[in-house]
Amino acid sequence: MSVDVARVADNVAALRARLAELGGAGVALLAVTKTFPVEAAAAAIDAGCDGIGENYAQELVAKSDGLLAIIPRPDVHFIGHLQSNKVRSLVDVVTVWETLDRPSIIEELARRAAGATVMVQVNVSGEASKSGCTPAAAESLVSTAIEHGLNVVGLMTVGRAGDVTAARLGFRELRTLADGLGLVQCSMGMSDDFEWAVQEGATQVRIGSALFGQRVRP
Ligand SMILES: *Cc1c(COP(=O)(O)O)cnc(C)c1O
Repeated sequence: MSVDVARVADNVAALRARLAELGGAGVALLAVTKTFPVEAAAAAIDAGCDGIGENYAQELVAKSDGLLAIIPRPDVHFIGHLQSNKVRSLVDVVTVWETLDRPSIIEELARRAAGATVMVQVNVSGEASKSGCTPAAAESLVSTAIEHGLNVVGLMTVGRAGDVTAARLGFRELRTLADGLGLVQCSMGMSDDFEWAVQEGATQVRIGSALFGQRVRP
């Protein structure tokens, strides 16, 4: 797959402009590169994205040598469902683990990557198909992660698709939860809902299709 570098740069510029209009000039822009080649990640970083988001452990492992070769010290966030048996293969490339959602994964990560920078993923929409802990469990997981020496910087969520009002309320709930726990960062908002996420206090948005076009596989 060839990457249209100029188009990625245009898309990054347009997103930055929109973020600024929404009062989110300081919001970090994470380029979600799942299914796209490492050249797409490089184009996004060259165009001023702050980091890269990847969902699938196997795909990220396959790309990691390329990423590390092509981008100086890439900031790589793992944003997919994390299985304990995959942690070890990812520790050399992941810089921020956004999807801690249960004690077992916290324990495994603390064992493999002492002091790693993490977020706790919260399922604010309550959809059974989504990963993430319940809002009620967030405080205890954050405490567990801190007790295990991890550097907890914030909370992450995926908004409810296809329902703007519900998505927005979910983003508001995540911001309130993070504030209550003294956490600065909220990773929330994707191509279709980042505007509401920013208005509700996102500090980082995760953008894929609006930068690179539609993905062929999900
Ligand atoms: C795929 C994905 C994104 C990016 O989605 P787009 O709609 O392509 O912007 C962001 N966050 C997570 C967790 C994802 O899985």
